[in-house]
Amino acid sequence: MSKASNLRNIFDAKRIVVKIGSSLLVGTESGLLRTKWLEGLARDIKRFRDRDQEIIIVSSGAIALGRNYLDIQSQELRLEEKQAAAAAGMVRLAHAYQEAFESYDIPIAQVLLTRDDSEDRRRYLNARSTLMTLLKLGSIPLINENDTVATEEIRFGDNDRLAARVAAMVSADLLILLSDIDGLYNSDPKIDPSAKLVSEVLDITAEIEAMAGEAHSYVSSGGMVTKILAAKECLAAGCSMLIAKGSEVNPLLAIENGEKCTWFRPNRTPYSARKKWIASTLKPIGSYIIDIGASDALKSGKSLLPAGVLSVTGDFQRGDTIAIETSEGIEIGRGLTAYSSGDARLIMGHKSREIYEILGYHGRNEFIHRDDLVIN
Ligand code: GLU
Repeated sequence: MSKASNLRNIFDAKRIVVKIGSSLLVGTESGLLRTKWLEGLARDIKRFRDRDQEIIIVSSGAIALGRNYLDIQSQELRLEEKQAAAAAGMVRLAHAYQEAFESYDIPIAQVLLTRDDSEDRRRYLNARSTLMTLLKLGSIPLINENDTVATEEIRFGDNDRLAARVAAMVSADLLILLSDIDGLYNSDPKIDPSAKLVSEVLDITAEIEAMAGEAHSYVSSGGMVTKILAAKECLAAGCSMLIAKGSEVNPLLAIENGEKCTWFRPNRTPYSARKKWIASTLKPIGSYIIDIGASDALKSGKSLLPAGVLSVTGDFQRGDTIAIETSEGIEIGRGLTAYSSGDARLIMGHKSREIYEILGYHGRNEFIHRDDLVIN
């Protein structure tokens, strides 16, 4: 049985993805950046960081800023106009964040992702390790969709789902969607005065989906539908999610002070969800045959090092799921390999410090890191 998430409030979260909608950051009429609002957000985030909470920002606003800057007059932008606007707007967006965080000495690092980056296993792992490294270096990754190159078929198209994907990718324990509505309502609050805010959702049932249905898509950008899709992805990844109104200055402070919002709570932790995902690969495409010492080390929670591997079977790439077997052919676990089969064959049986000499590059010390490993 998977362990339930024990996240009660935003103070408990260790790694948080905050998604900022365009309408919060860019004035709808003016098309200009809401600088005071952004300064408030930076102050809020600084407080999180002082409590040792890691933050990743997924921010919209590139298209809105860019269309104003390039003076694009069309009401409905065509795809190529959106892409052009995003190219010009992203520079300004990243610069605005950099300025807002400068006085706190917090570096901002821009990462633009496409859906492919999160669906292809190797690119997924690459993006994951870049983001992890940025966090380790004390910076705040500032993420947006790579709108300038993403064609219609391969776009997320909305940052709610991109943010959920990022949250799953970095095993975040909380995603905060800051938007222009304070949560999920049981009917459309714009037309139904008796509409009630749902304060907690444990499961995305048909009833919940119906509440967010197209007919009730009462949030302008993204809509409630994409927020519920994001919630589905988060819950499957063991990540809590909350929808909160972000339009006032210091929106995160308001949540801390108990402002109403909707919480989506998973029944597993990000850690157990990731392990489940690894264990559920139907057919590993290769294996590492290991010695007794390595087998004991794995059972006591260690990573798989090249030194303990006797042979490699199959033809695989970095990031593929590989079986781990004893020399009697018994599978004792599975994991995501940090090396291709070709490189693995060259360094198996060797000490990790010899990797550079043999391969000519600084690879990982482990064949399979313990975070990427499930032992039966
Ligand atoms: N990536 C788009 C932008 O930066 C926004 C997508 C969305 O609003 O969800 O303008």
